[in-house]
Amino acid sequence: MLDKKEPSKKQKRKRGRLGKHFTDKVSAFDNAMTQFDRAANILKLTKSQVAVIKEPRRVTEVKLPVRMDDGSIEVFTGLRVQHNIARGPAKGGVRFHPDVSVDEVKALAFWMTYKCAVVGIPMGGGKGGVVVDTRKLSLGELERVARRYFAEMIDLFGPDSDIPAPDVNTNPQIMAWFMDTYSMHERRHVPAVVTGKPLEIGGSAGRVSATAQGMVYCVRKAFEHLSISLAGATVAVQGFGNVGSYAAKLLRQSGCIIKAISDIDGAFVSDNWIDVDLATKHVETHGTLKGFDETAGVEKLDDPMKLLELPVDLLIPAALENQITGENAHNVKAPVIAECANGPLTPEADEICEKKRVFIIPDILCNAGGVTVSYLEWVQNRMGYYWTEERILDDLKRMMEDSFAKVLQTALAYEVPMRTAAFIVSIERVTEAAELRGLYA
Ligand code: GLU
Repeated sequence: MLDKKEPSKKQKRKRGRLGKHFTDKVSAFDNAMTQFDRAANILKLTKSQVAVIKEPRRVTEVKLPVRMDDGSIEVFTGLRVQHNIARGPAKGGVRFHPDVSVDEVKALAFWMTYKCAVVGIPMGGGKGGVVVDTRKLSLGELERVARRYFAEMIDLFGPDSDIPAPDVNTNPQIMAWFMDTYSMHERRHVPAVVTGKPLEIGGSAGRVSATAQGMVYCVRKAFEHLSISLAGATVAVQGFGNVGSYAAKLLRQSGCIIKAISDIDGAFVSDNWIDVDLATKHVETHGTLKGFDETAGVEKLDDPMKLLELPVDLLIPAALENQITGENAHNVKAPVIAECANGPLTPEADEICEKKRVFIIPDILCNAGGVTVSYLEWVQNRMGYYWTEERILDDLKRMMEDSFAKVLQTALAYEVPMRTAAFIVSIERVTEAAELRGLYA
C-alpha cells in the first residue's frame, strides 16, 4: 500500500506542473539532467563521455548532533556533493535551508561544475547543505551547527580538494567559522579552504556583491545585443537576500527602475519605483521585508508569485529553484530573464519561453560572478597578497564579458537558446579535461 504522505509518480508530475506550492516536489536534478542531455546530444557525446561527466562522483550525508541553548540535543542532516573534479578542486557553496535535499544538492553541484567551466576558472563543481531553518536558531546554535558540519566533512574539504563558499542563508560570518574550524584542526592557518570570508580574515574585495555585479555585466551585454536601452528599463527582482538586494541596488545604479521586490514574507510593487536603499534599511532593522508596504506608494501583492508575471523589461529570479514552471511561464511578460538563482526555470518553462522568444541569461553564466571572485579570493589567499577592489572588478568584468560573448556566439552558431549554448561551451571544456587526464587505474 502506498504511504499516504508519499505522492505517486503521477501526482509528483502534476505537482511539478503546479510549481509554486510544490517546488520541493519538482526534481531539480532531473531538470539539470534534461539541460545536460540537450547540449550533449548536439555535441554528439559518446555514452562513455557522458558516463564520466554527467553524474556526481561523490555524495556524502552526515548527521550533526548539536546542543541547543536549552540543553537539549538536536540532530541535523548535512550534505556535500562533489560533482566533477576534472578541471580542478570541487567548488561551491553551502546552503542552510529546511528544504535542502540530496536531489537539490546534486543538481546544485552539477550546475557548479558547468558554471566554473563556462567562465573558465580551474575548478570543478561541489555543493553542500544543511537541513535547517536558520530563523529558529540563536547565533550560538547557528555557530555550533556550522562548526559541526565542517568538522564532520573535514576529510573532504581542503584548498586543493573542495572549497566551500556562501549560498542561501549562509554568509561571511559562517565562512569565518568554517575556516577557523579547519585551521584549528590542522594546527595552521588555512584561509584558502573557504571563500566568501570577511575581508579582515582573507576575504576578497568585491566578493559580497560579485554575483549581482557579474549579472549586471551580462545584462548590459544582453541589452546591447537586443538593442534595448538599460537606462530606464523596468525590473522585478524575486528574492532580497545577498544576491537579490545587490541586484536591485546595482541595476538602480545603472539607471534601471526597480518596480518590484520580494522575499519570503511577500512581494512588493510600486507604481513609480522601489526605493532600494529604504528596502535594504528595512531588512537591516526587521530582518525581512515584512511591513514594507507601509512605505508610501508600495503595495503588497496578494500572491507573491505574481511578481514573476509583471510587465517589466527585465525579470530577475534571485531566490530558489523551480519558480517559473510549465504552469506560469505562459504568463511571463518580461522579454529578458537574468537568472541570479540557480535553476529558477524548469525545462518546461524553458520550452515555453523559447517559443515566446524570451532572452534568458542562464544561471551558470549569469550568476557566475560569485564563484569567479571566489576563485580570485582563493588565488589571493594562496599568494598572501591582496588586490584592490578596482583590480577585482576589472578581472570580473573581463571574465564575465568574455564568457557572455562566447556563449552568445555559440547560441548564434548552433541556433540554440543561451542555456544550451552555455552547456555546449562548458561540457566541451569538462569533456576535454576528463579525456586529457584519462582514468586512474
Ligand atoms: N553559492 C554561489 C553559487 O551558487 C557561489 C559559489 C562559490 O563561490 O563557490 O555560485
